Amino acid sequence: MNKIGTAQILPGEKTEGYIQFGSDIDGSPFQIPVLIATGKEDGPVVWVQGCIHGDEFGGAASIIRFFQELNVDSLKGTFIGVPVVNLPSYKDRSRISPLDGANLNRVFPGDPNGTYSLRLADKIQELIINHADYLFDLHSGGIALYCPFFTICKGGDSEAAKKSRWLSERMGTKIVWVTDSTNSVNGTVTDYVMNAGIPTVTVEVGGGVVTEEHEELFKTSIKNGMKALEMLDGDPVEFDEYEVYTKGDFIFSPAGGLFVPACEAGSKLNKGDLIGTIINLHGEVLEEIRCKEDNSFLAATGHRYWPTEMGRLIAETYS
Ligand SMILES: [Zn+2]
Repeated sequence: MNKIGTAQILPGEKTEGYIQFGSDIDGSPFQIPVLIATGKEDGPVVWVQGCIHGDEFGGAASIIRFFQELNVDSLKGTFIGVPVVNLPSYKDRSRISPLDGANLNRVFPGDPNGTYSLRLADKIQELIINHADYLFDLHSGGIALYCPFFTICKGGDSEAAKKSRWLSERMGTKIVWVTDSTNSVNGTVTDYVMNAGIPTVTVEVGGGVVTEEHEELFKTSIKNGMKALEMLDGDPVEFDEYEVYTKGDFIFSPAGGLFVPACEAGSKLNKGDLIGTIINLHGEVLEEIRCKEDNSFLAATGHRYWPTEMGRLIAETYS
């Protein structure tokens, strides 16, 4: 019998269960909820996950709602939803793990003998590679930042990379960041899963409060991706032209204090344009944060008056 954790894969049914993994400090196993919907007809297996960063709740909520609304009679293949990959980080409402301080999406491929996050990376990667044909990894700006709706895929000439790009352009947004090892962050789940030949798409939407619009965009992106893969009827959204960025700049706060944004996420900026300032509790400006490249897209920026510490991610620009 085919299973993911305790959840069975049964044609024509929705099933639920847990991926049991390791143990918490009180000795009880971590139980990661998993939601499976299987069509009566064969088709691809898509793995959709949220909260690899624990404070990105929009993806988690949207996976739950998408699963509840999904009609298995109209499904070909299998949807595997994992709303919250990183339970301790989610419980802490934090981007990093309270158990070992690691950013789970920077430590892939992990280590079966490492600390919590390394072991979880190893386990999740193994499950995806063994069971899925495609991975959709849902993200947001977390509780500190806000992102417009865009997708991220890995560049390259492999079949998986080409399919990732093709899928990224059918998720419902015309904005795509195409990364490679020289312009991106390392150790992401999508890096390693795609290297195993499985096409991947990262979806970014919102941050902070999960609005109805964010939920709708996440669900639409999943639906579009599954239509593109012919798992659901209908045509995915396609655009005549795409806004493609290839270089990413992650900006970490140079000072602690309150972040005061100077422009909205999604803005087009040039080198030297002000992204925001950091003020102290006397209201004095400690630092100005400026865009480093011409023709940039502000892919994420901190919320208004967000209290930030030195070195915290406060904005992202793509160019
Ligand atoms: Zn994230």
